[in-house]
Amino acid sequence: MDNQIQQLKVEALSRLGEIGLPAELEEFRIKYLGRKGLFPALMKQVAQAVPADRPRLGQLANGVKREVETAYGDRLDTLTLHGEAVSRSTEDLTLPGRSIPLGRLHPVTQIMDEVCGIFEGLGFAVAEGPDVESDFYNFEALNIPPHHPARDMHDTFYVSDSVLLRTHTSPMQIRAMEEKQPPLRMIAPGKVYRCDSDVTHTPMFHQVEGFLVDRGISFADLKGVLSIFIARMFDSRTSIRFRPSFFPFTEPSAEVDIGCVFCGGKGCRVCKQTGWLEILGSGMIDPEVFNKVGYDPEIYSGFAFGLGIERIAMMKYGIDDIRLYYENDLRFLSQF
Ligand SMILES: [Zn+2]
Repeated sequence: MDNQIQQLKVEALSRLGEIGLPAELEEFRIKYLGRKGLFPALMKQVAQAVPADRPRLGQLANGVKREVETAYGDRLDTLTLHGEAVSRSTEDLTLPGRSIPLGRLHPVTQIMDEVCGIFEGLGFAVAEGPDVESDFYNFEALNIPPHHPARDMHDTFYVSDSVLLRTHTSPMQIRAMEEKQPPLRMIAPGKVYRCDSDVTHTPMFHQVEGFLVDRGISFADLKGVLSIFIARMFDSRTSIRFRPSFFPFTEPSAEVDIGCVFCGGKGCRVCKQTGWLEILGSGMIDPEVFNKVGYDPEIYSGFAFGLGIERIAMMKYGIDDIRLYYENDLRFLSQF
């Protein structure tokens, strides 16, 4: 083994001495130092040596590897500097290099990742579905028949009579339940579309829909999961309240408010002096929805919730105009 290490050193250093072109140097690097090269292979052999010899061999092999790496680095400097000097003799090599500005994730993507991360930590699987939906998945199966007044609130973009741009990510609930049997724990993040535009609305925005179905799921489970989510997303001291509400696909339904993050609940312009900010909608899945996908509502129960990503980002970062997210102004985006 000792011999083998010494031999590899002699061989590598002499080969390095012969190299005159950058391309050959790269070949050398791959052959000796690359991930599948001779040195990593040697290290693996050392790791399998008898335990008594291992520390000494390890030290020897590491020393040799460092020596070859240094020699390689020197050779690389010489070759590239020499090459540059020949080909770009008119350039001032002492000038600092041009730096490339760092890109970063859009704030909406950052919040989306954070929200998904929290629910994944609670055992929820992530599912994605089509932006162009059929009327059946977007409305009908979610207990919103054609005559239902709730359709008016959705400001839908229709492609044809039965095809539309999804107005929420809830259709994924139906798609998932059609495919799988309970227990189910899923979140569906994605873009949704509504024909609406002002300081708090854009025609396209992002939602995360989540649902859990199993035997014996109660409203207490819903409160538990959403309380944990809010504590992790904002602060464990954030106050929460559940307010009775109505959604066609849940019964009972509740809207969830958190204590205003801007004034701490004292009342300000953002919370319209109430001290509370609405953050998400939720409820126990309506038995009618279970009937549509062939689950027996006598056996299974579950809850669902939906939240707007831009809204959460606005609260978290204190932004009062949603349109800023989509103007692509780098002065705004680079703050996140
Ligand atoms: Zn406030």
